[in-house]
Amino acid sequence: MSVSQNGWPVNPPRTLRTVPGTTVRITVADGPAGDVLIHVLEQIDKRVEDIDLNSTRGELDDWGHADRPIRGSTETSNHASATAVDVNSTRHPLGATGTFTPAQVAEIRRILAEVDNVVRWGGDWSRPDPMHFEIDAAYPRVAAVAARLAGGGNTPTPAPTGRPTLQRGSQGPDVALVQRYLAVTPADGIYGAVTEAAVRRYQTGQRLAPDGIVGPATWARISTGLGTTGPVRPGGGTPPAPPSSGSRPTIRRGSTGDHVKTLQRWLGLTVDGRFGAATEAKVRRYQAMKGLTADGIVGPRTWAAMGL
Ligand SMILES: [Zn+2]
Repeated sequence: MSVSQNGWPVNPPRTLRTVPGTTVRITVADGPAGDVLIHVLEQIDKRVEDIDLNSTRGELDDWGHADRPIRGSTETSNHASATAVDVNSTRHPLGATGTFTPAQVAEIRRILAEVDNVVRWGGDWSRPDPMHFEIDAAYPRVAAVAARLAGGGNTPTPAPTGRPTLQRGSQGPDVALVQRYLAVTPADGIYGAVTEAAVRRYQTGQRLAPDGIVGPATWARISTGLGTTGPVRPGGGTPPAPPSSGSRPTIRRGSTGDHVKTLQRWLGLTVDGRFGAATEAKVRRYQAMKGLTADGIVGPRTWAAMGL
């Protein structure tokens, strides 16, 4: 049996599959390798970049199975075993660096950590291939991840392992996510005394060690809440109101400001704070995927579905 570079059999049983929430169809190996790759693509589309983006010639530029050697090598490409995929290849060509922003790269790493890094990213190679993602583990580990994904349902919530530990002094979108969840205002993404106190109260209510640090155990509880349509009401003394209870305005095409930025960040779009056609299209697709009215208007139900 001939195998490709990662040890998976060449030309296996395979299927043309649609990445959920997109129009992209891609041929991947049947079984756990394909399941994990499709999951990764779905997460990339939701959290990093719209994979429906077309090439400059107006065609989709995402590929899976192809029976060929690695470019510039005689070794058999993992595309031949249908365990590799290329995403938005015209935007992220072979050899290019910096085609994803640092924030996008961080999110890619989170997504891969969530699948226990059984998928690796070509952007990390000495000859970068930023369009390329491939299975990088043997069958048992990949099957274990696929089983966990199948059992965990189709939640967009990242596993706790993919989130960085946050504490006093931390900054960024993860901090803002925790602040929104705990109804800390302003949700400015800066982990100060007020955020720390809110985390301690939450931890006390959840019977976690109240150290004021958001590590794996605290992330796990918070992720459980974020994964439901109505956030779990944080426990503790006087629980703050759930963040989605009308604390966000309804926004639509033409809206501007911080709420639009929050939305764009969550959708993995360019964050310019202006609700234009691209934002509207992405919102409609998200709504359709979630079974909401796909009107492109972000009201209470859509905010709640996003856990924002
Ligand atoms: Zn490739």
